[in-house]
Amino acid sequence: MGDRERNKKRLLELLQAAGTGNSHCADCGAADPDWASYKLGIFICLNCSGVHRNFPDISRVKSVRLDFWDDSTVEFMTHNGNLRVKAKYEARVPAFYYIPQANDCLVLKEQWIRAKYERQEFMADGKTISPPGNREGFLWKRGRDNAQFLRRKFVLLAREGLLKYYTKEEGKGPKAVISIRDLNATFETEKIGNPHGLQITYRREGHIRNLFVYHESGKEIVDWFNALRAARLQYLKTAFPELPESELVPLITRNYLKQGFMEKTGPKQREPFKKRWFALDPQERRLLYYKNPLDAFEQGQVFLGSNEQGYDVYEDLPKGIRGNRWKAGLTIITPERRFVFTCPSEKEQREWLESFQDVLSRPLTPLNLLGGGTEEHHRSWA
Ligand SMILES: [Zn+2]
Repeated sequence: MGDRERNKKRLLELLQAAGTGNSHCADCGAADPDWASYKLGIFICLNCSGVHRNFPDISRVKSVRLDFWDDSTVEFMTHNGNLRVKAKYEARVPAFYYIPQANDCLVLKEQWIRAKYERQEFMADGKTISPPGNREGFLWKRGRDNAQFLRRKFVLLAREGLLKYYTKEEGKGPKAVISIRDLNATFETEKIGNPHGLQITYRREGHIRNLFVYHESGKEIVDWFNALRAARLQYLKTAFPELPESELVPLITRNYLKQGFMEKTGPKQREPFKKRWFALDPQERRLLYYKNPLDAFEQGQVFLGSNEQGYDVYEDLPKGIRGNRWKAGLTIITPERRFVFTCPSEKEQREWLESFQDVLSRPLTPLNLLGGGTEEHHRSWA
């Protein structure tokens, strides 16, 4: 066996070696990475390798399978590897900081990788970075009733637990004062149609208000996101002092479990099926629906309890009910009524079914039982 073949074999073994963490991308956790940064000594996925290429002073990438590896480079990879290098570059990632996963958008991964290796923000002996705290700046915000994005000033007051935005720079008061308590933020680049698109939601008069914003700079928008997360964690710590931080971290922000178009009929199930945009919030256990994906408010929402409470979902339509254009049906049973949907394809039907089953099979958390999230409710959860 020549050097080339022998070294490739050693690398492939190294990818599977126990206790190295090499079987998952060092940056996003994707399974079976087959690229590597031979300057940092880590195995990464194709997507993350694309980000690493942008800073050759710090990282150099090669394909495990396609490129030539000499003895000394294989030796270097053996002595480093994902877990060891992560211990160095992720020594002190703040609890609020969002660590992207394989299915997250590029801007999150890019900024995570840059913060880690280029700015070295999380190294044990790196320079101390003050927690985000207050923040002020401009974001492009989508108009409520039109598709135009306008420059708006946003002010985050972390200690007060408030996010404000202004339509005018001077003079008038804020257009909205949003409580951090009711706020969520999630990157929605495809839906918003911008690689830095962020969706901010909050409760308003029993509805969920959506704001869609972006910033030209990937760093700015991810810094905003993490500043909102830091403020959320600070709020959660005061609201639930009895809970350990590890239980609060998953509650900081949440992503939709599934979104997409389905058609729905009304309560009598004789109404014509209409196409709507649906979003499933797994933490609040709510299925929200909208006329259009970027509407400011939902048209309606369904609370999804648990199987134990009599909630269920079926992969077809009740007898005698026919969809409009779409045939792949779904029926959700709640103690009050049933909800009937059709999906644009069998693949969508399967994904929705699995997502609903996932939520319905989870027992209700004390936080779900709070429902509205008023101050009294929070106090009663002890
Ligand atoms: Zn990756």
